[in-house]
Amino acid sequence: MKIQTQAVHAGDRKKAGAHVPVTTPIYTAASYSYEQMETTDQVFANEVPGYAYARYDNPTNHALEELLTTLENGAGSLACATGMAALQIAIATALLDRSKKVLAASALYGATINLLMNVMGPFGVETSFVDITNPEAVKAAIETEKPGCVLMETVSNPVLRVGPLDEIARICREADVPLIVDNTFATPLLVRPLELGAHMVVHSLTKYLSGHGDVMGGSVTADEAHLPMLRQMSRTAGPTLGPFEAYLSMRGIKTFPLRMERQCANAAAVAQFLRGHARVERVYYLDDPAHVDAATIARLLPAGQFGAMVAFELKDAGTPEVFAFMNRLRLVVKATSLGDVHSMMLYPKMASHRDLSPRQRERMGIRDSLVRLSVGIEAAEDICADLDQALLF
Ligand SMILES: *Cc1c(COP(=O)(O)O)cnc(C)c1O
Repeated sequence: MKIQTQAVHAGDRKKAGAHVPVTTPIYTAASYSYEQMETTDQVFANEVPGYAYARYDNPTNHALEELLTTLENGAGSLACATGMAALQIAIATALLDRSKKVLAASALYGATINLLMNVMGPFGVETSFVDITNPEAVKAAIETEKPGCVLMETVSNPVLRVGPLDEIARICREADVPLIVDNTFATPLLVRPLELGAHMVVHSLTKYLSGHGDVMGGSVTADEAHLPMLRQMSRTAGPTLGPFEAYLSMRGIKTFPLRMERQCANAAAVAQFLRGHARVERVYYLDDPAHVDAATIARLLPAGQFGAMVAFELKDAGTPEVFAFMNRLRLVVKATSLGDVHSMMLYPKMASHRDLSPRQRERMGIRDSLVRLSVGIEAAEDICADLDQALLF
């Protein structure tokens, strides 16, 4: 079945006694009781399916997890309280019986770098960074560093680089190193990393999948080999998503392919508009035939769909000019986060990449004149009109 159909049907409409609820109810119970102690014993032992304690599993989360497993084509999923909690449990699962070393893409979500360096680092996890768009460099780094896992994002933030995920997965499989992919920017509409050979896929459900800026959540979808340990670790570590958030995420996901298709189309129109604007120096969008990763993009992404993130540099602008531009926006929301139904703009220098030195930012291509736009589902001409009036400085 196509993802548009899966998004609406997977996980839902489980028989509950005589009736079938058309949407999965919110199960708030913290624990579950059985008539017979023998059944409770079997549930605790995982010998029969059932629920014991909500930190382990609950029916609302279970439905969401089934949906995510279907969308990402994995063996099973874990719904987590945030994208960061999901990343932490995925990395911990991968490293459990391997060397405590992570080989990470040098361009990563800021909090992910923080997690590696400042949360996992003090516990003895070493991280080295590699240019994930260079498979030879990744291969060499795996040979010298002997990492316990490789971590990358499908599409990097904010200058939108796309590593050859299929080649990286092949290199990881040859070296027997698990590959964890943060697929938040691409979503399973564009790329399904497990189908390309990755071992675990992580999402911030907060972004495109939920899509309305009203819920925080994360998920890990794992292959057969990593699923039991992922669930085992989670039972004790407790990164569990709450049932209300699971419900909201599931409600959001039903329209995610529809929203994402519209957002991709809008982003292409906005990128086109920006390229023709006199006040815009440079536009980063994945439809660009001159993009450094154009061959990888053509191979990995569906024809005509390039995601909904657009980054651009204002001509002759420093921080005061960027502030003046962003202050003038009326429709586009000035806020952190992305993937919502409304368009949102963020200034990487001040927000996502604030903790980096100017030199580090320069090396990552993040100039003072660069802004990042998450394109929403509004009418494209209204988004362009708002940008146009704000660009008159
Ligand atoms: C937002 C985000 C995260 C973190 O997710 P939260 O839900 O905010 O914890 C991780 N990776 C990427 C790519 C993100 O955009």
